[in-house]
Amino acid sequence: MEVELVSIGDELLLGYTIDTNAAFFAREAAALGIRVVRRATVGDGADEIASAVKEALVRTGAVITSGGLGPTADDLTKPSIAALFNRGMRLDESIVESLRARWKARGWPGELPEANKMQAMIPEDATILVNRHGSAPGIWLEDDAGRWVAMLPGVPREFRGMTKDELLPRLVAMGAGGTVVRSRTLRTTGIAESALADKLGELAKDPAGVSLAYLPGWEGVDLRLTVRDVPSVEADARLTRAADALRGKVGKHVYGEDEADMAVLVLHALRAHRMRIAVAESCTGGMLGMRLTAIAGSSEVVHGGVIAYDNEVKVAQLGVRQETLVAHGAVSEETAREMATGVRERLGVDVGVSITGVAGPGGGTPEKPVGTYCVAVDVRGVTRSFRTSSVGDRHEVRQRATQAALSLVRVALEG
Ligand code: AMP
Ligand code: MG
Repeated sequence: MEVELVSIGDELLLGYTIDTNAAFFAREAAALGIRVVRRATVGDGADEIASAVKEALVRTGAVITSGGLGPTADDLTKPSIAALFNRGMRLDESIVESLRARWKARGWPGELPEANKMQAMIPEDATILVNRHGSAPGIWLEDDAGRWVAMLPGVPREFRGMTKDELLPRLVAMGAGGTVVRSRTLRTTGIAESALADKLGELAKDPAGVSLAYLPGWEGVDLRLTVRDVPSVEADARLTRAADALRGKVGKHVYGEDEADMAVLVLHALRAHRMRIAVAESCTGGMLGMRLTAIAGSSEVVHGGVIAYDNEVKVAQLGVRQETLVAHGAVSEETAREMATGVRERLGVDVGVSITGVAGPGGGTPEKPVGTYCVAVDVRGVTRSFRTSSVGDRHEVRQRATQAALSLVRVALEG
């Protein structure tokens, strides 16, 4: 089944509100084999709404709208779409009653405001989609040719609830659900998108019956495999085949699947080895500690750390040697290694990990441009380190350096 989404609201066009409803719907629908083939965003004007919905009806004949069902004058979704279907509007007494009951049940003062009665105005011959999550009911309108529009409220909690309670069951009853759209993501880090594509060779272009997307971000490059329009069992089989083939080529760069978090993997590895860790951070100023301690249960294995931003702290608190700083600079693998060893020894733990770098925007030099960072790990006296350089603004460089440090710890612990 193919559907289109029309998101309605000036605030969406202005960029003040992110269209989370459309993303939510697409994800939920995919699991049932319903494909969102096009999305449009329009302002609150009646003409804008009508023209977007009209075009979608011509193309797909299956349209879901979000927003503009509220009680105020800027909520024009219902009348403008009713006009497209040549339907008038009528006051629905059962909706007025339930709005009154709701008003009373909440203990709100006085009578139901007149404005709320706008919500009880519905197109003729419409089906009401019950809203158990808010006041504005949804509307289902269908013409003789079977083309339909489902209108849902914009408030995300209501949109989500009604999608699940009302809309998806209807679509399944109409025949959606035989096939699925399903994805599986392999998460890689420490390798560029282009290098990944090279290693994948033939597989880089859609492995058999599966589409492959490269999704780069500060945690690394995610490889998302997607299959569409096949029964559930077939979808899983194809995804497994494709994931296995990909792992065969780039497996050592894959650290997990789907929502995998490098910090969680590091904590697991530490626990498995019965080791405790301490961090020494320069340019990341605590971000590494934050990633690790964000995970529940981290206190079992995370001991503490030193934010060694100024060289004085690197020397006094971590025992980094002046000679090292003079000879190699604060941003160097040599300094990073001494930081890692220093924090491990001084905090009396098994593993020390460190980060030092140039987050920018200032401070870059020709040899060490902005984005250069060094990370090191010391596991019971055995150190490893590497230096690399990344793109992005200050925040992104710091995030990338943090991810790189976590990745290095994981590799060191897994041998
Ligand atoms: P409406 O149903 O248009 O009155 O919208 C009610 C509230 O939901 C407003 O605060 C909007 O900012 C929010 N909202 C509307 N549409 C969306 C959307 N597509 N995604 C997320 N929030 C939305
Ligand atoms: Mg609105």
